[in-house]
Amino acid sequence: MTKISGSCLCGAVSYSGDITIKMTMNCHCTDCRKVTGAAYGTLLFMAEDELTISGDLQSYHHKSDRGSDLTKLFCGTCGSQMFTRNSARPGLIGVRAGQIDQTDLVKPGANLYGDSAIPSTKMDPNLPVHAKMPG
Ligand SMILES: [Zn+2]
Ligand SMILES: [Zn+2]
Repeated sequence: MTKISGSCLCGAVSYSGDITIKMTMNCHCTDCRKVTGAAYGTLLFMAEDELTISGDLQSYHHKSDRGSDLTKLFCGTCGSQMFTRNSARPGLIGVRAGQIDQTDLVKPGANLYGDSAIPSTKMDPNLPVHAKMPG
């Protein structure tokens, strides 16, 4: 188990937990680029019940390109995107890398949706690049 904590820009939403990181990925899909406003999204996935979240989260629901239900959770005060849920992966929550206090824990294992990456984005040559979602 690994200690993790983090908070949004304004501090109204925070989280902590003793967690196991299941996977970490950089996602270059259009949805991740739009919702983060960044060149790509980096998410760490863990069991949601290992995480204690406090503060007022707002949510936005949309469909993935495979038809599953996606939920984006963000701070209702400052708008920071914090977490994602995917109906295809029940019980798992995606935590956004940029807000994690323990920055050494952010170790992406792959780049996803390389086909839609911004051309200037540098990717670690040691990591696999998947054109879309693998599997
Ligand atoms: Zn906030
Ligand atoms: Zn994505």
